[in-house]
Amino acid sequence: MTKGKQLYEGKAKKVFETDNDEYLIVSYKDDATAFNGLKKGTIAGKGVINNQMSNRLMKLLETKGVPTHFVEELSERETVVRRVKIVPLEVIVRNISAGSFSKRYGVEEGIVFDKPTVEFSYKNDELGDPLLNDDHAIALKLATEEEIAIIKKYALKVDEVLSEFWAGCGVTLVDYKLEFGKLSDGTIILADEISPDTCRLWDSKTKEKLDKDRFRRDMGGVEDAYAEIMRRLNNALK
Ligand code: UDP
Repeated sequence: MTKGKQLYEGKAKKVFETDNDEYLIVSYKDDATAFNGLKKGTIAGKGVINNQMSNRLMKLLETKGVPTHFVEELSERETVVRRVKIVPLEVIVRNISAGSFSKRYGVEEGIVFDKPTVEFSYKNDELGDPLLNDDHAIALKLATEEEIAIIKKYALKVDEVLSEFWAGCGVTLVDYKLEFGKLSDGTIILADEISPDTCRLWDSKTKEKLDKDRFRRDMGGVEDAYAEIMRRLNNALK
């Protein structure tokens, strides 16, 4: 697969065309942003960790019946993925209260839910990714009712698989954001990334944060936390 021209540069990744119309190459950067781009920095080694972690978790999800965009890891930072049209919804699944959920509803972090919640935000930086419900998503023609049902089904399957996987690593999967895309024939698959940038991951015993909240909240030890979570994943998949 040869790398073609750069299509897009996002906050954490670059995307390149390839010699095949159906595939793209993503290249993970060490750049980190938070609060809709207001806070900027770098996390040394993050690109390598996010690339490898996302690929391994997507491979695991494929074996459990969740189709993903993952095709082939090319190098430490680069991966071939299926070309999709991203559904402009951030799909957020929560098992425990944290972050914007706690802020919105005025509750402490760490409340364990009886069942996971799925919520959608409209992927739109200018509007600050506003929260919306299924009917709003359909009204705005962001997805059809059928597509939303499939997305929710996959999001909950991801929750089942990854909660169990991380528990085996001594890690609690608190919440995370998924993005889905559509192939040219309309098939919905999981796209984007699954990494400490997009998940809240707490040590099950100490509740220590092993994710991007260390960067968002200036807690220090960011690189160490990313390295630790990757070490645990590697141990589990040995
Ligand atoms: N998240 C993300 N990108 C976003 C917003 C959220 O990856 O643009 C992830 C975030 O890392 C967390 C989960 O989605 O694991 C829920 O985030 P929340 O809605 O609590 O927002 P935050 O507190 O991160 O602003």
